[in-house]
Amino acid sequence: MIHIDGSTGEGGGQILRTSLALSMCTGKPFRITNIRAKRPKPGLLRQHLTAVNAAQSICQADVTGADISSLSLTFVPGQVNPGAYSFAVGTAGSATLVLQTILPPLLCAKESSTIHLEGGTHNPWAPPFHFLKQAFLPLIERMGAWFSAEITQWGFYPAGGGKCIFRITPPAEKLLNIDLTERGRLIRSEVLTAVANIPWEIADDECKLIARGTRFPIDRFRAENVSSSGPGNVAMLEMEFENSRAFFTGFGEMGTSRNKVAHLVSSSANRFFACGAAIDEHMADQLLIPMALAGKGSFTTRAPTSHTTTNIEIIRSFLDIQIQISEIRKGVWKIWNG
Ligand code: AMP
Repeated sequence: MIHIDGSTGEGGGQILRTSLALSMCTGKPFRITNIRAKRPKPGLLRQHLTAVNAAQSICQADVTGADISSLSLTFVPGQVNPGAYSFAVGTAGSATLVLQTILPPLLCAKESSTIHLEGGTHNPWAPPFHFLKQAFLPLIERMGAWFSAEITQWGFYPAGGGKCIFRITPPAEKLLNIDLTERGRLIRSEVLTAVANIPWEIADDECKLIARGTRFPIDRFRAENVSSSGPGNVAMLEMEFENSRAFFTGFGEMGTSRNKVAHLVSSSANRFFACGAAIDEHMADQLLIPMALAGKGSFTTRAPTSHTTTNIEIIRSFLDIQIQISEIRKGVWKIWNG
């Protein structure tokens, strides 16, 4: 049995999700202790428990320790069964992080799956639904998979209640190798700002402020009033390059001005645009698992985050692969395996 120390590196929920995902992909059981030890409320929260339960359902795992606040867990996976599943977080906890947990094993399965999720769709500290649909999943499609993603209700903190559906068709044989070292020319960039149950002018202003703040052309701006059970505001900027995609997000909340939200988005996109790397910092840690499962891949990114370095460490616990990191020019790093 593999032992994972949940206080390693970043010490957050990603260590648990990566362990669940790779345990299902490899059939290797694991025990994790010190779950989310470096977070203000350590242990399993509703969102992490939903991820554990989702993993258990898709592979009939034997699980002990799957309780709220639990600091340790044992997971013995069975065979992964693709199919139709519904998982509800039950709070505003991130529904997309539940998907992050079960996506790798469903990508290794022989048939398609349809996953209905309920919970937060646009949460700080988690991949927004649109990041997955517009940036992450299109890159995984380049590895031979196919997806559709639909949102019917947006879920913001604290009310939650978002609903989305993902259809996942795995590659015919296995995930293909991917080379994302050169991003190529910027061919499209779009801004989408959204508000729910607060004035639309906030979203409109954020669009205008982002337009003023970015140092590259934006092709399309949309400010939308969206359906959600509570108030919410998110500003998103999507970039499509010839050979890559990137995505930047800012969240509005009480006490955060629209100026600040817009500035966060435009300044992080500007930094990324100027550095010339192909992959943004959030994409970087999330690409590691599919790339490791493919056996070979490479990308360039800005300085690796602790989510990235920690994920590499956890992947090494399950897979016998070398993932290498090297600064290839000032501020740009290459990460590769195989
Ligand atoms: P953890 O903090 O350990 O629960 O992991 C959070 C995960 O959410 C990591 O994979 C992050 O890269 C991802 N994440 C956080 N914020 C964003 C964002 N704005 N866009 C995309 N992914 C994100």
